[in-house]
Amino acid sequence: MYIYLDIIKEFSCEMCGSCCRNDWQVTMDEESFGRNAQLFRERGREEEFSKIFIPIMGKSELGEYAYIAKKANGECWFLEGNNLCRLQGEAGHSHLDTVCQTYPRYPMNTARGIELTLSFSCPAVIKLVSRVRPLEILRSEEQPMVILPGNDVVHIFPEQKSAYNPLYYYFEIEHHLVDIIQSRQITIKERIQLVKKTIKGICNLAADDTLSQKLNRIIYANYELLDSKEAVAQPDHCNPDILIENFFVNFIFKKPFYQYGLVKGMEFVEKMWKVIEDRRYDATNFSKDMERTSNCIMELELKYSHNRKALLK
Ligand code: SF4
Repeated sequence: MYIYLDIIKEFSCEMCGSCCRNDWQVTMDEESFGRNAQLFRERGREEEFSKIFIPIMGKSELGEYAYIAKKANGECWFLEGNNLCRLQGEAGHSHLDTVCQTYPRYPMNTARGIELTLSFSCPAVIKLVSRVRPLEILRSEEQPMVILPGNDVVHIFPEQKSAYNPLYYYFEIEHHLVDIIQSRQITIKERIQLVKKTIKGICNLAADDTLSQKLNRIIYANYELLDSKEAVAQPDHCNPDILIENFFVNFIFKKPFYQYGLVKGMEFVEKMWKVIEDRRYDATNFSKDMERTSNCIMELELKYSHNRKALLK
C-alpha cells in the first residue's frame, strides 16, 4: 500500500537550483563515495575527487560516509551557471547520491506501507501547496512515483510498542492531529492550541487497560467540539493561514510525534509556530504576508526537517 499527500503526483522540479545553494551538507554513503571514486579515476580527475568528496571523520549518522564540498560562494561544487548539475550531466541521475536523487521527496517505511510526501523547503513544492483546497492523504496499491529502495527517512511500526504506550495507537493519533489542523472553522492559532491540549491529555493517560478507551474519548470530545463550531466560507485564494495549515499537516505526516515522542513532537510544533507568529504579519499587505510566510516555512523546513539535530536543541 502507498499512502501519500496528493501533491506527490503533481511535483516537477523547476530546476531553480535552490536546493544546491542551501547551507546543508550533501552527505553520501560509502557505496556512493566508491562510485564517484571510480568515475573520477576513470576520467583522470583524482585530484578533483580528493578535493571535493570529503570523508566524514568521527561520529556520523548511519549512511553518512562523506560529503560534497562547496564552492566559496556556498553553492554545491557541481552546480553550474544554468542551475544544472555537472555530475548528473556527466554520469546520469542514477549516479547521484541518495539525497540528491530523492530530494524533495520524503519516503517513509511504515506498518501501513510506503508513505510519501515532499519537503516544503523546495519553492516548487510551496507553489503546489499554495492552494485553497485542503491537502489530501491518498491511498493506492499503485506506486505514485519512482521510489529508490532503501531510501526511507523513517521507520514507523507502532505495534512494536507496548499497548500501554499511546504510540501503539500512533496512526489514529496522527489522523486526528491532521483533522484538527485542517479544521478551518477555528483559527490556526486555536488549532495549534487544540493539538497541544490533545497531546497533553494523551500523555496524561494512565498506562493500563483503559488507555485505548480513554484515548478514543479525547478524540471524540475534540470532534464534538469542532462539530459545534460554525463552518466558515472558504476564501477565493490561498492565504498565509492555509499555507501554515498545509505546512503543519505535512510536518505531522512526516511523523515526528512517533520518531521523537509526543512531548518532543509538540515542542517542535510550538517552536516552529512561535517563529511563524513572530515573523508575521502585515495583514494590510496580503502579497507581502504571503511571501513572508512562504519564506518562513521554507526556512523552518530547511532548519528543522533537514537538520534533525536542530530540532533536538
Ligand atoms: S529546490 Fe526544488 S525546484 Fe529547485 S532545483 Fe531543487 S528540487 Fe528542483
